[in-house]
Amino acid sequence: MKSQKQGHVLVVTYPAQGHINPLLQFAKRLASKGLKTTLATTPYTLKSITTTTTTSLQIEPISDGYDESGFSQAPSLEAYLESFRAVGSKSLEDLIVKSNNTTSPVNSVVYDSLLPWALDVARAHGVLCAAFMTNSASCCSLYWRVDRGGLDLEREKGSVLVVPGVPPLGVNEMPSFLNGEIAQSPYLALIMEKFKRLEENDWVFCNSFEELEGELVKAMQGLWPLQMVGPMVPSAYLDQQIEGDTSYGASLWKLTSDQHMTWLSTKPPNSVIYVSFGSMADISHKQVEEIAWGLKASEKHFLWVIKEPKNKLPNGFLNSLGEAGMVVTWCDQLEVLSHQAVGCFVTHCGWNSTLEGLSLGVPMVAVPQWSDQPMNSKFVEEVWGVGVRAGRNEEGIVGREAIAMSVRAVMEGERSGEIRRNALKWRVAAKKAVSIGGSSDRIVDSFVELLKGKKN
Ligand code: UDP
Repeated sequence: MKSQKQGHVLVVTYPAQGHINPLLQFAKRLASKGLKTTLATTPYTLKSITTTTTTSLQIEPISDGYDESGFSQAPSLEAYLESFRAVGSKSLEDLIVKSNNTTSPVNSVVYDSLLPWALDVARAHGVLCAAFMTNSASCCSLYWRVDRGGLDLEREKGSVLVVPGVPPLGVNEMPSFLNGEIAQSPYLALIMEKFKRLEENDWVFCNSFEELEGELVKAMQGLWPLQMVGPMVPSAYLDQQIEGDTSYGASLWKLTSDQHMTWLSTKPPNSVIYVSFGSMADISHKQVEEIAWGLKASEKHFLWVIKEPKNKLPNGFLNSLGEAGMVVTWCDQLEVLSHQAVGCFVTHCGWNSTLEGLSLGVPMVAVPQWSDQPMNSKFVEEVWGVGVRAGRNEEGIVGREAIAMSVRAVMEGERSGEIRRNALKWRVAAKKAVSIGGSSDRIVDSFVELLKGKKN
């Protein structure tokens, strides 16, 4: 009798909200296609996963050496990354070996590209290996070109960066790790390491979709191995493909209540501004103050996620709000963005937030901070036409007038109709990409078929 085809993929996450979300979503997609899938995440973040998906996703801890406390207790980012590399390699190896005594041994590892050592572990155990990129493909292409010597940033310093498939980027539009501003960040060394070894992977996935970065796809064809499988937004918001897949199912911060959803329900369609700067950005007091008064000046309702409102907001602001606005310390962003009352998303343009705003058809005001955010915000405004970038003043701050003006431009200005039409167009395209037979879905299918057919 022919042995039954099976496969078992281990999906390894990096413990940050913007990394767990897309990797967990990818794991759920693989599981929903009948592939045995195990998500490996650090003990600290494991507690945050509440997925109730009906698919058969299993979850296992992988140690980073900070099992009780998590990342925040590490003396530095470098120390944390080193600990995860040393302890995590062993822990990943144990997971693979443990599975060898079961009926479905692990035959592949998908790892967050911030964990390049997973490639060595997978190779040592003879299993297939796939890196997962959590930035846009356009952003990845810049790092890739720097690694291949096609971009000499020292020589280009101060000038407009012109690379195939990407619109010309000014100094303040390229990823901040590349413009010299924070060139010493340990993240940069880590990022460059993953690009150096890109071709050693059997597959390289990217949380984007072909149609979204069409010019880039054309320019890079045949040059590199990136494959677009996104957007990694739970299917209930896109195409209802996976039963019960209504949230990422992971939250490193607690929802204190759902009063904001009740509050949203009392507001007319497209009338509320949703404001969030993601999970990592540390916005200065001055900037928070300008956003606060800018939102008030817009005379629109707003829902603002801010982790430490009491420390950060200007004196008297909270008390002055009344019905005009609501401040929360965390929310389920997808639930909020998909609420009909929300008509504008003031965002830092983290890649997940950008994709979420786009996939849910919400016009955006971009207030980028660092990393890939300035580049994402350029695409939001100039390539996809789904929002505007709020301008900075001489102090490098987005002032209250700029906030109020940008919000009005997106919600009621001359271009607001066109922005809304573009937002709806991209929403449809995102849904199509992950629906059965769509550009992203086809790639996921071929990966799953390969793994189901592969024997150790
Ligand atoms: N998020 C959320 N609730 C919030 C703020 C953010 O669920 O109140 C989620 C958001 O949906 C996104 C992630 O946190 O998936 C943030 O990732 P992103 O890449 O946008 O930014 P980062 O946090 O990495 O800067």
